[in-house]
Amino acid sequence: MALVVQKYGGTSMGSIERIKNVAKRVAKGFDEGNEMVVVVSAMSGETNKLVALANETCEFPDLREYDVLVAAGEQVSIALLSMTLIGMGYKAKSYHGWQVPIITDSVSSKARIEEIPDEKVRADLKNGVIVIVAGFQGIDRQGNVTTLGRGGSDTSAVAMAAALKADVCEIYTDVDGVYTTDPNICTDARKVEKISYDEMLELASLGAKVLQIRSVEFAKKYNVDIHVRSSFNDNQGTMVTKEDKDMEAVLVSGIAYDKNEAKIAVMHVPDKPGIAAKLLTPLSDANISVDMIVQNVSQSGSTDFTFTVTKADFKKALMITNEAAKIVEAKEVISDENISKISIVGVGMRSHAGVATKMFQTLAQEGINIQMISTSEIKVSVVIDAKYTELAVRVLHDAFGMSGK
Ligand code: ADP
Ligand code: ASP
Ligand code: MG
Repeated sequence: MALVVQKYGGTSMGSIERIKNVAKRVAKGFDEGNEMVVVVSAMSGETNKLVALANETCEFPDLREYDVLVAAGEQVSIALLSMTLIGMGYKAKSYHGWQVPIITDSVSSKARIEEIPDEKVRADLKNGVIVIVAGFQGIDRQGNVTTLGRGGSDTSAVAMAAALKADVCEIYTDVDGVYTTDPNICTDARKVEKISYDEMLELASLGAKVLQIRSVEFAKKYNVDIHVRSSFNDNQGTMVTKEDKDMEAVLVSGIAYDKNEAKIAVMHVPDKPGIAAKLLTPLSDANISVDMIVQNVSQSGSTDFTFTVTKADFKKALMITNEAAKIVEAKEVISDENISKISIVGVGMRSHAGVATKMFQTLAQEGINIQMISTSEIKVSVVIDAKYTELAVRVLHDAFGMSGK
């Protein structure tokens, strides 16, 4: 008998018919003699609808109340799945995050899981109950409902698997694994059999939304192997696991794109020590993470300071930066929401020179201008005009010989 944690995403839970399909899969696991814990997302589109409603109330909706609102999507889907299983003759029970409880910190809308006491879930499993847990949501130590950031159900699932020391953690989604790039924009994308935590962390943080980044951080920290697979077929998916030798043979293992960032540039700042801290501290105080940062100093002694933030944080970040720009005596602040970040990722880059150059040449041949660059040991990212996203992904996929055909 194994303890199995399964997670089903929004598309897999998108209609009653699909929920019935999920219930059949869960029941099969149970009939085979396993203890089943199932984490589910809201039905597809529901969370977006709730976010849109919040944004209609005022410019900056209160984040505590935002969490109360957006957690509602998962409340619907846990009950529907549980009812379906009970209707099929199984014992099933749904849990909100707070009922488990999934205890998080208090950072509304991007909370981190701190602890999951497992007594209640274990008692149910012992009694032959299939446990259905709402993904994406938790509770802080003051009793406030929190959510884990978009795509957070993946993290709920991996955290449940870690807390319960599950034998298997399966993430069921609408593609049958992790591909060399998004199979929905590049038909040549190839399914990867196995990918290291570090590569998956990079891909996830660079926009490959197939797994939320924090789910991979959790998996790495607690050594949880994740099997990413489809809820619509029985294909073997992708194992996200510890790095091993054959993984290093691949130069570039994946290409990610992210249209979800915006660029803010603070222009002509007198070049003095402390500029970066003065511009970025108010943002981190507001819990806004800054991603890429570029600073150039011109000969005239003034500097341009450019960075990116997520689109969700953009309006607030721009307002804060306009204030900070006055303090550092900048000439102007400009911004651009029509950008896209394209990244190539691979542990093989550690031992190969020239990967970045090949990326830049490939983009140049297509006339695609690079606005920002950032590199690490195992990735190169560039910011380009959003309208070239698909083209850039396809030509890079081809240039690095990643095609499955
Ligand atoms: P779920 O609702 O199941 O959580 P998501 O939409 O969050 O599903 O994630 C699955 C989607 O991730 C796929 O439909 C695909 O478009 C996208 N995706 C992006 N990059 C990749 C990749 N490298 N491999 C597989 N899917 C990817
Ligand atoms: N329903 C949430 C979202 O749409 C969480 C998830 O799907 O993982 O972001
Ligand atoms: Mg998702």
